[in-house]
Parts: sequence; C-alpha cells; structure tokens
Amino acid sequence: MSKQRSDAKSAYESKRNFERTPEPSGMAGRRTSKAPIFVIQQHDATTLHFDFRLEIDGKLASWAVPKGPSTDPREKRLAVRVEDHPLAYASFEGCIPEGEYGAGPVIVWDQGTYENLRRREAGAAVSMRESLEDGRVEIWLEGEKIRGGYALIHSRLGGKERNWLLIKMKDEGSDARRKPAKTEPQSVRTGRTLEDVRRASRHHR
Ligand code: MN
Repeated sequence: MSKQRSDAKSAYESKRNFERTPEPSGMAGRRTSKAPIFVIQQHDATTLHFDFRLEIDGKLASWAVPKGPSTDPREKRLAVRVEDHPLAYASFEGCIPEGEYGAGPVIVWDQGTYENLRRREAGAAVSMRESLEDGRVEIWLEGEKIRGGYALIHSRLGGKERNWLLIKMKDEGSDARRKPAKTEPQSVRTGRTLEDVRRASRHHR
C-alpha cells in the first residue's frame, strides 16, 4: 500500500508537463534551516494573483490570493486553497510557456520564514497540520515586504470548500495605508517585475 502511494502522482505533478514547463518537477524536498519558510509569488496567469505558500511537513501548502496580502486588519482577502507544491517551488521565478498549466510569468514577490502562533488554551502548541485540518492557521511572517501576524480561516465562502480568508492581525506590522500588493511590484530575489520576466522569456525564444 505504501508503495502504491509513493508511485501515485501528486495533483501538482499530474497538472504539468515537465518537458515543457521550467517549474520544478517532483514533490521531494530537503531543507536545512530550522525555521519553516513561506513564499508569496505573484503570477499573471488567466488572472493576476498572488500564490501564498507555507512550508508544512516538507511541502508547500498553497493558496491563490487574488488581491494579495493586505497589511490592513480590516480587510479580509479571499484565499483559494490549491494543490500542494514542492519545496523547490519557493525559489521559482520564470515564465510558464503558453499552452501549459498556469501559463504566464511568476516572480518571488516576498519570502522569509514563519512561526506558528497557535496554542491550545493550556498553552500547548498546535501543529501546522492540525491547524490546516481545523481550518484555522495563525502565523507570524518574517518577510521583506510582509511582517507580522496573519490568520488563514477556512470560511467556505459562497459554499465553496476551497475558500479561505487571509486576515492581518493587529500588531506592529499592520498599516492601513501601505497597500504593498499594489505599490511594491518587484521580486525580492531579482528586483524584476512580472513584465520584466515576460519580456525576458520572449527574447529567449
Ligand atoms: Mn498561481
């Protein structure tokens, strides 16, 4: 039974042709640093969105956030749960070719480490896996653009199982005026914008 499981393709793998897309193949991942990572990729596919990913149990649990993260605690951002991605995806920047799943440019909009904030009433930690199952994730993000507490709540908005909400907590990272998803368009890895990545891929054809 366990063999069958390891032979089965993940949802991530079955959606992609790795001979065509520059995205990383395979779900295997290795990590050396101790704190778990998060990444927020901006992706101009059918629609422009931000992909919010958290390292949990060796994979990247992922949500597509149409408007990106807010720094305003009064704004609730829709976050649509999508398939887990391999850890190696966290550093992926490039252009997914036309005709392939998710075609369009991707940049690493923000990256860093996170801390799990959830505790039982008695003070014991709740694992990230349990938090996902409960539909309540509470984390502290240490990124370059995004810093502070965030909650992901499984709201099932509109009756849809995949719908969660991403909400900023009130803390030193909250700021109703900043709007980084609109005003800070550059990759934290390379300084490139989505347009730069799209243009570079056209020139390389
Ligand atoms: Mn995406």
